[in-house]
Amino acid sequence: MEFSILVDSFYKMELTRKRLELTQFLVELFEQTPHETISKIVYLIQGKLRPDFEGVELGVAEKLAIRSISKSAGIPIKRIEDEYVKGGDLGHVASIILEEKTQTTFLVEDITVERVYETLFKIARLRGSHSQDMKMKYISSLLNDATPLEASYILKILLGTLRLGIAENTVIDALAIAFSGNKDNRKILQYAYNVSSDLGKVAETVATNGIEGVKKFEMTLFNPIRPMLADRIKSEREAIEKMGNQFAAEYKLDGERVQLHIKGERVVLFSRSLENISIYYPDIIEKIPKVIQADNIILEAEIVAINENTGEFLPFQELMHRRRKYKIEKAVTQYPITVNFFDILYCNGKSCLELNYKDRREKLEKNVKEDDFIKYIPMTVVKNENEIEDFMENSINAGSEGLMLKMLDKPYQAGSRGSHWLKLKREYQNELGDSLDLVVIGGFFGKGRRTGSYGTLLLATYDEDEDIFTSICKVGTGFSDEDLDQLYQILNPKVTIKKNPRINSEMEADVWFEPELVIEVVASEITLSPIHKAAMDKIRKNTGLALRFPKFTGKIRFEKVAEDASTNKEIITLYKGQKKVAHDKNLM
Ligand code: ATP
Repeated sequence: MEFSILVDSFYKMELTRKRLELTQFLVELFEQTPHETISKIVYLIQGKLRPDFEGVELGVAEKLAIRSISKSAGIPIKRIEDEYVKGGDLGHVASIILEEKTQTTFLVEDITVERVYETLFKIARLRGSHSQDMKMKYISSLLNDATPLEASYILKILLGTLRLGIAENTVIDALAIAFSGNKDNRKILQYAYNVSSDLGKVAETVATNGIEGVKKFEMTLFNPIRPMLADRIKSEREAIEKMGNQFAAEYKLDGERVQLHIKGERVVLFSRSLENISIYYPDIIEKIPKVIQADNIILEAEIVAINENTGEFLPFQELMHRRRKYKIEKAVTQYPITVNFFDILYCNGKSCLELNYKDRREKLEKNVKEDDFIKYIPMTVVKNENEIEDFMENSINAGSEGLMLKMLDKPYQAGSRGSHWLKLKREYQNELGDSLDLVVIGGFFGKGRRTGSYGTLLLATYDEDEDIFTSICKVGTGFSDEDLDQLYQILNPKVTIKKNPRINSEMEADVWFEPELVIEVVASEITLSPIHKAAMDKIRKNTGLALRFPKFTGKIRFEKVAEDASTNKEIITLYKGQKKVAHDKNLM
């Protein structure tokens, strides 16, 4: 398939944000795509090469891209950097520069989607000492044969700046229309996506075998399932109102959620955002096969750091010491854990998602043996507010955060957040009622004791509609010296030459970061703000929302990607909630 067809679609799609138009462009694109290429197209329009859980990262830095453009166009690096700083993104700069060049040379070969994809894939797999040179060679070879517009999109994909604003839902709509003529079939495709986390595979199945083929789609071991999520509630009373008069309450442990895929000795661990995190937990990989009573199984658990002497649960920060690439063996002994199981999703070749909660819990206990390291999450069935309060007390005393409440007669709803699971946290630290997970977008250099670190960070919420990150506050409190060191180590490599176009902020930070890292903060209040961009114009014209007295809680949310951060919709709900509480208090 000619790459120019894809590029024309990219170009049209970049000019609109309207979901219906995007869907129509996608349908037209899918109809021109050979079946064997459709998965590649689906990954590329999302700026990826493979589903996220495979961890295939392009990892091309701006500097390398600039060198490659320079090599391909025979133009000094300095000139490209100047153009880049002046405006536009690097893709655009490349197209201007190559435009000048194509007026004097011939294009050698038409490029195809398959060739671009294979080359990008090779670049992603390169490792080792000469990899930078090799990457540059591959990039230049593509740029040499590309038209200026094609080059600009190749660079956007390479740098991860291709942002068409196409949500997974839109891709699913378009696949349903293109291959079944009926948008209502999206439900069948959505299910397949929820149990495979691989939109490319779903696309290939529907293109090749039609909607009937997708109906036969089965979950597979070592392909993660999109997790079921919980709605938050604020009181025991709300729980009874929403769940009725009998439901399960489990401890809400403060650790890392993990999905375990196990077949014999082979074990793979996926995080909440479905990243393969097996390397951090060699102790789980070694011990888990011994306690499993099934041939193959998919389970969910919360990994928690513990005090080995007392068995007490320790806070999440302790566990994060495990997130290191080197000397893992040492971390395993220094930071002991337990694995606390709460669900079973697959057993002996069959899905368990359709089973209700009670049956799943029973199956879990039948197929996993408890020992010092492997536990079931404490659970009880509750019937009224008092029972919830008592169990909450036990949970907090054991060192956990609160309770998860789960309906007894409901199946596991992969990939959805709903009212079958609710989370109730003890409101101890935070007047807003819950913490927020925010994306670090900028940094300000520290002074005094904080010299050599970012003393203050600029944080953003995620704007789902625009697919961008909007500033909401600066935070400079709550950081220990160790936190500042760690954050500097993580953030320094994320510094960009220019502010990423997905960042919306009027503040002038000392440095800008790729919007990737998510940290947790608490705050006293959400206020209207003339400076910050979160929920701009939503409450009042020309006004955004900001956090008052924000404080870092010490939690870096490694398991979250930037798009999992608190959204503007959530902030608006919290803002309105806080106004309501104030209003109710005044009436009392
Ligand atoms: P999300 O609801 O988006 O996951 P979050 O990660 O901020 O948001 P929390 O408010 O911490 O979520 O609550 C949900 C998380 O609680 C789960 O993802 C899981 O890691 C953890 N958890 C702890 N105990 C349980 C339990 N018993 N059942 C399910 N999840 C649990």
